[in-house]
Amino acid sequence: MKRAFSTFHALLHNPREIMLGTNLISDFNDFKFKSPPSYAELPINDNPEYNVPVAVNNAIFSKVPTEPLTGKLHLVCVSEEALTDVLDLDPKVSESEDFIHFVSGKYLPEGGLSVSHRYGGYQFGYWADQLGDGRAHILGEYVNSKGEIWQPQLKGSGETPYSRFGDGRAVLRSSIREMIASEACYHLGIPTTRAGALVVSDEHKVWRDKTYSGMARQERAAIVVRLSPAWYRIGSFEILYKRREPELAGKLADFVIKHHFPEISLDDEDRCVKLFSEVAHRNLDMVAAWQGIGFTHGVLNTDNISLLGLTIDYGPYGFIDHFYNHYVSNSSDDMGRYAYKMQPEIIIWNLDKFAEALVPILKVEQIQQIREIQATLDEYVESRIRETFNLKLGLETNKDGDEVLAKDLLGLMQATMADFTATFRQLSEINLDQLCDEDALKEHWSLIKVNKAKGWDDWVKRYRERIDLETVSDETRKARMVKVNPLYVPRNWILQEAIADAEKNDFRKVRHLLEVFKNPYTVNEEAEKLGYSSQPPSWSYGLKLSCSS
Ligand code: AMP
Ligand code: MG
Repeated sequence: MKRAFSTFHALLHNPREIMLGTNLISDFNDFKFKSPPSYAELPINDNPEYNVPVAVNNAIFSKVPTEPLTGKLHLVCVSEEALTDVLDLDPKVSESEDFIHFVSGKYLPEGGLSVSHRYGGYQFGYWADQLGDGRAHILGEYVNSKGEIWQPQLKGSGETPYSRFGDGRAVLRSSIREMIASEACYHLGIPTTRAGALVVSDEHKVWRDKTYSGMARQERAAIVVRLSPAWYRIGSFEILYKRREPELAGKLADFVIKHHFPEISLDDEDRCVKLFSEVAHRNLDMVAAWQGIGFTHGVLNTDNISLLGLTIDYGPYGFIDHFYNHYVSNSSDDMGRYAYKMQPEIIIWNLDKFAEALVPILKVEQIQQIREIQATLDEYVESRIRETFNLKLGLETNKDGDEVLAKDLLGLMQATMADFTATFRQLSEINLDQLCDEDALKEHWSLIKVNKAKGWDDWVKRYRERIDLETVSDETRKARMVKVNPLYVPRNWILQEAIADAEKNDFRKVRHLLEVFKNPYTVNEEAEKLGYSSQPPSWSYGLKLSCSS
């Protein structure tokens, strides 16, 4: 009632304000979930001992209440755009007690249904059996003013049947990394889940061995509110395949199509083939975008691959600094399985596992159709990556040999330890005829490195010839390129500094980073002063993150 009244009231007095979005929810009590949520149609396990690890059968979810964070709470940051654009919330609501209680797992808005999702997965190439949401709770389903469906999820909100050996909690450093990367990736044009807010407790502590050195220490527990239209993964089907629950797999496939792939008809006999195709192409579009930004996920296990083709579960990720094709961001990944250059191949490997999990619900001809789609995926992702790098080089047309031009540039960058982000950005800022002019290059700290490579002059010649074929002015080339080559990405060293301050309850840098990454393509004076587009400090070379979070 309150919301309807305030909207009407505002309309009477200032119709333009309505247009500008004053129909945002300003009292958090007015935020209500759709009841029941769509996922209530699926089997939900309801075990009174909800926080005891157990093998769950014949269910897609478990009904699990959140275990609120205790002690004095700090709201570390909020993403104002995520709150307004996704949840219709006036950012001012984040100052209310109800909102903090929502983020910390104490208050479930009306219509909510708190569940943890059951899934399995291949971890580092080996079947790991049941994994599931071991520290996450999907709270409900919200239909926003644009008619979009979103499922807010808390991460770090307590134990569930899927907690295995874990404590159900997340620490501040990893929560900050997830919060910032989710929002930065969104603004960098990478398909991703979002993050709305982050709280940390002063008193609620957990034990973590950050570097797996045998020296565990206490850290403060935190919770992030993550946002996604849905949280189904390849592992959602794998667990049903391995546990021989084909009926439920068929039900889940139809459910996912009905609610999340409306472009596929439920009457279509080959709907699961179409689902496979859509999931595959979306995930390959996502990985092509990662390659273009130099993003390395770090843990591409099948349980971390969303069916919606969104980047999920940000952990020991890394944005490449000095370019290295075999860059591995995760210190636990000894074999380099999830290295930057491996990502497209690994996504395809994961999609093979998805195809395998669908077999029991497919007819023989449909299995064959999926095989035929699979046979095209290598070429598809290569073409997407080529298009991505062409745009980075200012090329809007695609010609034979373009992939070699991009690959050769990366080779020169690798040979000279030139920076991935800065090289492309600086190529977007310099005139073509200055590319071999040492004096002009001096203004560009990464280009001056790559210019030292044997083969640079030849590369520049080929690049100029290729640009000539585009028949565009140099100004147009540069204008195209600054739109796709960011100045700022969440480099590990930048995050480390913000995390160090946040550990002392100074959240200004974290909040500032969210601000900077809203416009990663535009010069930000403050970010420049802090050196965010400068050469990374030497202490940051070789920084790696472990899975401990
Ligand atoms: P990740 O690699 O972070 O996506 O996590 C893999 C699995 O471990 C998922 O099932 C998580 O829910 C679970 N997990 C990770 N950390 C914890 C924790 N602290 N407590 C319970 N489960 C966890
Ligand atoms: Mg995960």
